[in-house]
Amino acid sequence: MGAIITTPLILAVANQKGGVGKTTTAVNLAAALAIAGLPVLLIDMDPQGNASTGLGVSRSDRSGGTYMLLMDGESDSQAIRSTSVPNLSLITSDMDLAGAEVELVTMQRREFRLKNALASQAAFQAYRVIVLDCPPGLGLLTLNALVAATGVIVPLQCEFFALEGISSLMHTIEAVRRRFNARLRLSGILLTMSDRRNSLSGLVEQDARNHFGDWVFDVVIPRNIRVSEAPSHGLPVIVYDPKSQGAMAYNALAEEVVKKEKILIPQQVSAHE
Ligand code: ADP
Ligand code: MG
Repeated sequence: MGAIITTPLILAVANQKGGVGKTTTAVNLAAALAIAGLPVLLIDMDPQGNASTGLGVSRSDRSGGTYMLLMDGESDSQAIRSTSVPNLSLITSDMDLAGAEVELVTMQRREFRLKNALASQAAFQAYRVIVLDCPPGLGLLTLNALVAATGVIVPLQCEFFALEGISSLMHTIEAVRRRFNARLRLSGILLTMSDRRNSLSGLVEQDARNHFGDWVFDVVIPRNIRVSEAPSHGLPVIVYDPKSQGAMAYNALAEEVVKKEKILIPQQVSAHE
């Protein structure tokens, strides 16, 4: 029998609001899937480069990266680097990428730069999952991520106004699906920074579940100090403090994503052979 050929699942972590847990989710979901045994690539799509920092890449060591991937397109799988997490690769970003948002405007098929770059090289097909950490906003960087993606994960911070702006994000996703990327789906809405001692968190969770039903992941990410400390050590929290509440929640999220997206992890593959 021939080998099963799979194309990577491409998950964009997006919300036009800043500070809602996109980067934390992208880094930790990617790391948890990688540690579970899947080859994972994380692409930092935010000029602020927080995902790159969170994985311990210093600012002086980020030339190339996502900027080159979008500008050179077909030439650049060299941008891929390994990380301290087994099976996890990274494409970094730096402030150059802010320029890309402007430079892209005049380019042909500007919405398809990332999709085409990822499709053009065998190096990218070796990954089972590619996670895209989007910047805040719905500009061309986020648009490129949505056009390249197969699924979108939307982190929602458990606070007042959490649902504000979410309908414009849903409209954007729907518009991208219609115009550019018919395979795009909402993977799920993820409640982040929940504080069980604060009744507002519970209300926001209830509100989100009433509005979006099964689209909301069962797993809720708690507010946890270890999560906010981990990036300054250049590590995902699931490596920095695997027993912390935050780490356990992100591991549980990875399991939920594996189930929802029907991803086979290598042990399961061999168990079926
Ligand atoms: P975004 O990428 O959407 O801007 P981040 O993931 O960078 O959001 O999170 C914003 C801030 O909140 C960061 O300082 C991050 O460390 C912190 N943070 C995110 N998730 C948690 C959490 N579960 N517990 C505590 N702090 C968190
Ligand atoms: Mg971010």
